Amino acid sequence: MTELATIDAIYGPPAPHWVGDGFPVRGYFSYMPGGMRRLSPFLLLDYAQPYDFEPTDNMRRGVGPHPHRGFETVTIAYQGSVAHHDSAGNGGVIHPGDVQWMTAGSGILHREYHAAEFARKGGTFQMAQIWVNLPAEHKMTEPAYQALTASQMGVAKLPKGSVTVIAGEFAGAKGPARTFTPINMFTVRLEAGGTVDLPLPEGWNAGLLVMSGDVHVNGKDARGNDLVVFKRGSGGISVRAETPAELLLLSGQPIDEPVANYGPFVMNTPEEIEQAIRDFHAGKFGQLDE
Ligand code: MN
Repeated sequence: MTELATIDAIYGPPAPHWVGDGFPVRGYFSYMPGGMRRLSPFLLLDYAQPYDFEPTDNMRRGVGPHPHRGFETVTIAYQGSVAHHDSAGNGGVIHPGDVQWMTAGSGILHREYHAAEFARKGGTFQMAQIWVNLPAEHKMTEPAYQALTASQMGVAKLPKGSVTVIAGEFAGAKGPARTFTPINMFTVRLEAGGTVDLPLPEGWNAGLLVMSGDVHVNGKDARGNDLVVFKRGSGGISVRAETPAELLLLSGQPIDEPVANYGPFVMNTPEEIEQAIRDFHAGKFGQLDE
């Protein structure tokens, strides 16, 4: 057994807030000490725990056109479906198990609504959105879009559970996402009594979101909606589930560069933020209907 990584802190759930009228999320990073740099390359984690929506005729439940520049947005659908369109002409529906990995790069407009079929029927909705920083040399890269379907994910079976690999690699299972910096992004599911040992490479940051269940992590207790943040360094993350549990591991090599951010723009300097605002108002992020 490798040495265990040190837990820096376990954060209980922040109060939920609505993003548009479609996404009741808990925003995990912004209030933490160190904010957007604490878990670099991850800038933000919004988690929408399971929430029941009534059927509706409103096909615009969510957020209308808005810009991003300088990073990537990763949307993981666990339950319910999200429709997405952007100003680069990409679009589609993210179904349960699918992941949309959008590189905003030099700038994009997009809209995120409940998919029509889901809106009409209603049902349980559960989703995570992660913002992943881009290194300075790639912040102005051409916008791009990876539609990753459930069947493309790498899956490693455990004696009592599974690890679904979105990005990176675990036990020979490889994630389909192309990333600019090294990242492990896994969904871990454990039955009661199930265990897993997850790697934390030397010098990487890591956060483990307990989406549901009661678990022991490196000797401490955590429960549903807790975020476990590890100290940078090497070691293992050893999880034992006391009840059935679902977890999201975010770990990656830090991007140790300055962060300047304003709303949906994340750059390296205040001047670059001002430029982003000017470019947005000048229409340089393209066009997108409601
Ligand atoms: Mn967005």
